[in-house]
Amino acid sequence: MKIITSVKSLRHTIDKFKGSGKTIGFVPTMGFLHEGHASLLRQSGRDVDVTVLSIFVNPLQFGPAEDLKNYPRDIKKDELLAKKENVDIIFYPSVDEIYPTGFLTHVYVDDLSDRLCGKSRPGHFGGVATVVLKLVNMVDPDVMYLGQKDAQQAVIVRKMLQDLNVPVKVKILPTVREADGLAMSSRNSYLSLRERREAIVLYKALNQAKTLIKNGERTAKTIVLGMAKMIQEESQGIIDYIQCVNAQNLSVIDVLKNEVLIVLAVKFGRARLIDNIIVRVNE
Ligand code: AMP
Repeated sequence: MKIITSVKSLRHTIDKFKGSGKTIGFVPTMGFLHEGHASLLRQSGRDVDVTVLSIFVNPLQFGPAEDLKNYPRDIKKDELLAKKENVDIIFYPSVDEIYPTGFLTHVYVDDLSDRLCGKSRPGHFGGVATVVLKLVNMVDPDVMYLGQKDAQQAVIVRKMLQDLNVPVKVKILPTVREADGLAMSSRNSYLSLRERREAIVLYKALNQAKTLIKNGERTAKTIVLGMAKMIQEESQGIIDYIQCVNAQNLSVIDVLKNEVLIVLAVKFGRARLIDNIIVRVNE
């Protein structure tokens, strides 16, 4: 496993692999790796010859009042996990390497970036789209792996790559959860013991929604109110949003049909947690 910090060296190494006909898989992350990230690395290992993992806490996607400075980092532990998952290259650049002095260009996916998390995190998805396009241009992968955990991010990245004719295949893999249902996230490390206990209500609320739909409920408002009630009764979490949206374009759905993405963001102390499920609605 190689740890590479410069774009020049990354390009050189990848060119050599490509020259010998190897296929490249890419897993972009912000590090502090867990089993969710591992699932993406494992899938890449199954699909392609060479797996590239990037670890970069991207300042562009953090707002001024957000947790950039305190975002959890542990490169030594990340290296161990990467090695165990047979990663070939860790790309671990500095902020200057990605955004040298004088950097001026940004990518913004209209509409999709202003919905859901985009409302409370203005500029966030512009930062995500910009860094993902840069990283994809640097790694030039055949396949990129993303998690369904960040559903809006996956929709936006897919759209950006499609709109800008970037020839990379994107695979979205299921959310990996703790045994009690909480979606794994680097930010779970912010949770106090009480918050950690309470945070299981998020997946419970999503499952309650699924049961209601299975039992015939089709009004989004009823589903959302039921989820909010459960979260408020069983935790001190502060709800940012709960919505039923179209899984492809994130538009709000009032009457459920076809494929529905149920998404939520709830703050537990310092941790703003997001989760979602996709429910197929039978007519
Ligand atoms: P992050 O390091 O949080 O930026 O995440 C890097 C990638 O891992 C993104 O594509 C995430 O969607 C994905 N990911 C994060 N948590 C999970 C999880 N619990 N299950 C599956 N994928 C995840």
